[in-house]
Amino acid sequence: KPTLVWLRRDLRLSDHPALLAACENGGAVIPVFIHDDTVDALGAAPKWRLGLGLGHLAGALHAKGSQLILRKGDALEVLRDLIRETGAGAVHWTRLYDPDAVARDTAVKAALKEDGVDAKSFARHVMFEPWTVETKTGGYYKVYTPFWNMVKGRDVAAPLPAPKDMPAPDTWPESDNLDDWQMGAAMRRGADVVRPHVRLGEAAAQDRLDHFITHLAQGYNEGRDQPWKDGTSNLSENLALGEISPYQCWHAGRRAMHEGKQGAETFLKELVWREFAYHLMHHTPRILDSNWKEAWDAFPWNTDENHAEVTAWKQGRTGIQFVDAAMREMYVTGRMHNRGRMIVASYLTKHLLCDWKIGQKWFEACLIDWDPAANAMGWQWSAGSGPDATPYFRVFNPVTQLDKFDKQRDYVSRWIAEGRKNVHDDARSYFDAIPKAWGLKADDTYPSPIVPADEGRKRALSAYENRDF
Ligand code: FAD
Repeated sequence: KPTLVWLRRDLRLSDHPALLAACENGGAVIPVFIHDDTVDALGAAPKWRLGLGLGHLAGALHAKGSQLILRKGDALEVLRDLIRETGAGAVHWTRLYDPDAVARDTAVKAALKEDGVDAKSFARHVMFEPWTVETKTGGYYKVYTPFWNMVKGRDVAAPLPAPKDMPAPDTWPESDNLDDWQMGAAMRRGADVVRPHVRLGEAAAQDRLDHFITHLAQGYNEGRDQPWKDGTSNLSENLALGEISPYQCWHAGRRAMHEGKQGAETFLKELVWREFAYHLMHHTPRILDSNWKEAWDAFPWNTDENHAEVTAWKQGRTGIQFVDAAMREMYVTGRMHNRGRMIVASYLTKHLLCDWKIGQKWFEACLIDWDPAANAMGWQWSAGSGPDATPYFRVFNPVTQLDKFDKQRDYVSRWIAEGRKNVHDDARSYFDAIPKAWGLKADDTYPSPIVPADEGRKRALSAYENRDF
């Protein structure tokens, strides 16, 4: 009997236990992607990027003599339809951990089992499934370092090869046409600008990993804090959709560590930050939409998404160069350097005293590496409301940060065109990427700070006074 492999955030063929086990079941293997309401709920950029990823995967499957079957609708109904149409006896998938996916998958598994179908889920999206890491007293971790100490010596399964053959059914079930799904509909005119920055699919992700290990791992300790240079792996885009697995990254990082590459252990630690985010999301799903530290509930954040200062922040027009450069980088490339993410998040939540959820939502609309767990953790960390967060009274100074991390102003001159003679192509392309309705042009005058660094810091500290965080 055929096995359906229900793909979600695991768009690859190698290191894919769910797929491999399906190939070993003996019958045909039918890869399926279901456009259900979790896909409807995606932000513009992640949805567009998912569409590109699906197109690429369909090509990779085709090259193996297989096909990607696309269907729209409620997951259980679609799976039941496909089981009826193909006579499939089993459904495999890779586990996800966000509350919506968990609720859906739990219900699907129970219903299929009741139908007599062999429904099986597999681990691979994370290395340390959230319930397998416990403190000595049986609780979950709220602080990163002990979490790291607990997992760093664990055995991580070696990556698996791609299946040699993908047994095909005699007749393929019908599939939707990916173009009809219009996954890029909400991207407006930015898509053409962002597209050259996308690295699509498994082979490109492997190339990124190889490039990082060979050329960047040694200098990663410094390189990861230099937003003007290519010093990090850039793998978040691919990890978000499972075009590479964390196991593959982990083993490459371990090898580099044993070869004596200096930054390799820090890379492993960063991969474990991702694991920690998933750990927190599993144990405290409220991290996604509420202050993790409830003491912050009483704080009078500005929650007006249409406030002029919020608009300036979104548009990269705050007059604070580091903030604006980073916001524009995100609009053009769909990604933002980690240092930039920390600076813009700190500026929004501390200098502008805005609710971190405004920023979380904007990142969700713009990032092609959007990840529910990492994004929520990053925002709450920056705001001070999260677990193991930066202390609330630590307000990044976006001006002195520039002296520290962009001494030569390479980063800001790459992204800010206004007032410059030699305008970088990327700075220009920001004006191609943004919606026309914003009414901005490269020869506009660069704004003066909407809230200057020192003034904002003082305002934030006085707003925090007499509060018990
Ligand atoms: P590298 O430095 O090469 O690190 C390797 C991998 O480790 C990354 O690909 C990522 O999977 C993981 N990683 C690194 N740093 C972190 C971190 N702080 N938290 C969790 N995982 C980490 N990351 C996302 O993948 N998606 C998001 O939506 C996201 N939103 C963020 C929002 C804010 C406000 C902040 C402060 C951080 C956010 N991050 C997010 C984390 C981090 O900025 C990115 O993972 C990193 O910049 C990706 O670049 P890279 O792949 O070159 O990372």
